[in-house]
Amino acid sequence: MPLEIELLKWYSLNKRDLPWRKNNDPYRVWVSEIILQQTRITQGKKYFNDFIDKFPTIYDLANSDEDKVLKSWQGLGYYNRAINLHKTSKIIVNDLGGKFPTTYDQLIKLKGIGDYTASAISSICFDKYNPVVDGNVLRFISRIYGVKIPIDSAQGKKKIKELANKLIQKTKTPGDFNQALMEFGALSCTPFPDCQLCIFNSKCLAFKKNKVDSIPVKTQKKKIRKRYFNYLVFKGNNGKTFINQRKEKDIWYKLYQFPLIEKDVLDDDILLSSDFSEYLKNNKLKISNTKHEIIRYKHVLSHQHLFIAFYLINLNTVVKDGYDISNLNDFTFPVPISNFISKYLI
Ligand code: SF4
Repeated sequence: MPLEIELLKWYSLNKRDLPWRKNNDPYRVWVSEIILQQTRITQGKKYFNDFIDKFPTIYDLANSDEDKVLKSWQGLGYYNRAINLHKTSKIIVNDLGGKFPTTYDQLIKLKGIGDYTASAISSICFDKYNPVVDGNVLRFISRIYGVKIPIDSAQGKKKIKELANKLIQKTKTPGDFNQALMEFGALSCTPFPDCQLCIFNSKCLAFKKNKVDSIPVKTQKKKIRKRYFNYLVFKGNNGKTFINQRKEKDIWYKLYQFPLIEKDVLDDDILLSSDFSEYLKNNKLKISNTKHEIIRYKHVLSHQHLFIAFYLINLNTVVKDGYDISNLNDFTFPVPISNFISKYLI
C-alpha cells in the first residue's frame, strides 16, 4: 500500500480527540496552531479551551483589549504570539469583513502567520495542497527517506518540504494528510521510537540502514545566553510597590515587572553596587534602611537561562505613585515573577 494511503488509514484509527479537531473552523484551527507552537499538547489543550471560552469568535478577540489577551496567555511564553493573534484578528474583522483568507499566499501576509501556519490553515480548513513542515514532520520524513542534509538548514527544510509535497499531491484530503504526518511524528516516530512496532519499518530507510539514532541530522548547537535579572521589590508601608511594563523588543515584551537592574554577571548583592545607587538617584528615591531579603530563581527558556534575584525591600515610608500589592494579579507578569508574587507578596 502506498505510504500516503497507509498513513491516512493509520490517522483515521489513531488520531487523538483534540478540542480544535471538532470542526474545521479557521478561527479555532488558527488559535490552536499558534498555541501549539512551542507548547506541549496537554498544556495547549487547557489554554486553547480557556482562550476559546474568553474569545469564542474572531470578533470577540478583535474587540477585546490587548491586556486581556496577554492575561489569557500568561504562563504560555512567547507573548508575541498573543500580540500578533490580536493584531491579525483586528485586520480580519476590520479590513476583510471577518472573512478568513483561504489561500496560502493571502494567509502568509498576515502578522504572526508563517509558512507552517499558512499551510496548516489553508489545507485543514480550505482543502488546499500545501504541505506542513513542523518538527514532527521533519523527523518522520527525514527518517523514511534517509535524508542526510541537516534539517536545521534551509536546504534540509526545502528537501523535506519537496518530499512532503510529492506525497500530499497523491491524496484527496490534504488537510487530513498534513495532520496525519504531524500526528505520526508526534505519536510513533518520536525522538526515541519503537521501530519494531512501526507500520512503516519495511519502507523506512533510516531503520533499514540502522541510522534511526543519527537521523534527523542537525548541525547547529543551541547557543544559550545567560542573563542576570535583579528585581527591586519595594514594599511601602502603604502596601504599594513599583512596577513597569517591558517596552523593549525582548523576551516578555509588554508584560509587567518590578524595577530591573540587569547585569552580565551574578551579583552577590546588587543593593551594595553603584547600579543601585544610580537607580535611586535617577528615580529621586532616598532609602536609608536597605534591610532586605534576596530570593533567587533560575528560569530556563529555549535560548536563554535567566538567573533572577528578587530583592524584597521593606520601607518605613510610603511608595508614592506605586501600585497596590493586593491588586498585582490584575497585571500580566512573566511566570517567574507571578510565582514570586503569589509566594511572597500576596
Ligand atoms: S521505522 Fe522507526 S524511524 Fe522509521 S518511521 Fe517508523 S518509527 Fe520512524
